[in-house]
Amino acid sequence: MSRKAVFPGSFDPITKGHESVINRACDLFDEIYVAIGINTNKKYLFELEDRKKWIASTFAGNPKIKVLTYDILTSELCKSLGAKYILRGLRNTSDFNFEFSIAQTNRALVPGTETIFLVTDIEYAAINSSIVRDIYIHGGDIKQFIPDAITI
Ligand code: ADP
Repeated sequence: MSRKAVFPGSFDPITKGHESVINRACDLFDEIYVAIGINTNKKYLFELEDRKKWIASTFAGNPKIKVLTYDILTSELCKSLGAKYILRGLRNTSDFNFEFSIAQTNRALVPGTETIFLVTDIEYAAINSSIVRDIYIHGGDIKQFIPDAITI
């Protein structure tokens, strides 16, 4: 049976941290759905279509990676895709505290769902999309923080 994982997030924008987690997860899964969540209560900096395009370009040539957008519960998305696994990255204990309850809740909602955490590589631990957005808004150069394959 094909091992499918969903990697949910805002990817506003995708960073080298996300890229690294997804590439490492390719050893674990047959298919990875990079799923951009649409939350009407959340303000995003970059357009959804751009965020989607940047993810697709980053993984062009990797048949395991698919990109999609969704506006339902992550657990429901997993169910509809037949994906048993949710992939998340952990940078620090704040990530852990937040992720812990979400993972338990997703499992309560759709029993059998397993959240798999990959601990970030040390070189990417400080990278997060919100800092990248701040640098971008203030006219700084974000090149070193985003995948080499894309230009924003
Ligand atoms: P959210 O919208 O849920 O905050 P993000 O788009 O910021 O999500 O991130 C999606 C996932 O990628 C989360 O599991 C997050 O912990 C992980 N992630 C983000 N940045 C990094 C990084 N630098 N290294 C490892 N994982 C990361």
